Amino acid sequence: MWKKIWKKINQKSRYDNEPQRSVVLLRCVYLILFVYYIIFFLLMGAVSVASGKPLRVSWIALISTFLTILLFWLTYHQRIRRNLILYVILELVWLTGFVYIFGWSCGAQQIMFVLLVLVYFSFYDALPQKAAFTVGLFLFRFALFYYTLTHDPYSALEGNLSLILQVWSSMSFFTLMGVICGFYSSNIETADKALVLYNQQLQKMASADPLTGIWNRRSMLTFLHRQMEQSPDRAFSVGMGDIDLFKRVNDNYGHDCGDAVLKWLTKQLQSKLEGVGQICRWGGEEFLVYFAEKNGDEAVSFLMDFTMELSRSPFQWNGKEIPVTMTFGVEEYDFRSDLDTLIKKADEKLYIGKEGGRNQVVF
Ligand code: GH3
Ligand code: MG
Ligand code: MG
Repeated sequence: MWKKIWKKINQKSRYDNEPQRSVVLLRCVYLILFVYYIIFFLLMGAVSVASGKPLRVSWIALISTFLTILLFWLTYHQRIRRNLILYVILELVWLTGFVYIFGWSCGAQQIMFVLLVLVYFSFYDALPQKAAFTVGLFLFRFALFYYTLTHDPYSALEGNLSLILQVWSSMSFFTLMGVICGFYSSNIETADKALVLYNQQLQKMASADPLTGIWNRRSMLTFLHRQMEQSPDRAFSVGMGDIDLFKRVNDNYGHDCGDAVLKWLTKQLQSKLEGVGQICRWGGEEFLVYFAEKNGDEAVSFLMDFTMELSRSPFQWNGKEIPVTMTFGVEEYDFRSDLDTLIKKADEKLYIGKEGGRNQVVF
């Protein structure tokens, strides 16, 4: 049953672009108000039975109960802004009625604070309009208070009933305030979390290569610059690698096959590099490998191992074996050159390797 009620409360407005959280919140507010008014009515009924004196004016609580149900129903058929304005107007009318009949001690005037918070959170009006509403509400409250100072209530609440209603009003309005504030603060938290997640996703998208999932050129450059800045005395080497005659793979087996080769090769290289260095997709079918704390000879030996493994295990595509080879140019950090020079030198050696027949590592 609770699930059904909650589903009903969460039901979308029939209008497009309605702020769903305000719709749901307003329905919750009406439900709490419904309980508030009906208990108000029952309390007065109970007291009139106990005292033997009929409290003729308890009908105002009953009317309020019915109007609250009407407002709740209207949230499904009316624009939420119009509904909220109607609610504010009705609330002020009820309030005037309650205070006029029962005097200041019925406690109903506290609902004004609820109205204030609700209007500030739910209306998308500019701040000056909200400030004007605040001033208007203050003047209204002051006028009501002044009226009760100078006039006796129409039907004064006796001793205990006054106290009970004060307590009941306070409890209800504190609950309302808690619900409204809790509702919006949790919304802010959720929005914050969603934003952080979205930012992380954006950052990942901006730093990774969409096909292979590894770093793109930008991420590798950022990483290398930071490495050289933070640990200028740390040895390292870079290897620029390029797939040999990759155009033929695309031409002979299709672009999908070419993509699959790129992914497969990335996996091979990445798993071999674990704990040794980093890899990025430098461009098309070029990869830059970073070897932490390795000199040029060590990097060459690693890459020779890798190219040998490649020639031993060709790529499988639709039952066919496609030989994939790579050529690498290696450069070792000399503790003097800048990053651009280092990469340029590795690239030049890669070119020499291509000229020299491919499938080799040049240092
Ligand atoms: P070389 O040994 O001299 O490097 O020859 P190559 O054929 O590998 O070099 P070339 O520069 O002529 O061709 C590179 C090819 O790589 C051309 C391009 O279509 C292909 N390529 C680049 N990026 C991708 C990609 O993301 N997917 C696929 N399938 N192919 C790509
Ligand atoms: Mg190539
Ligand atoms: Mg190339």
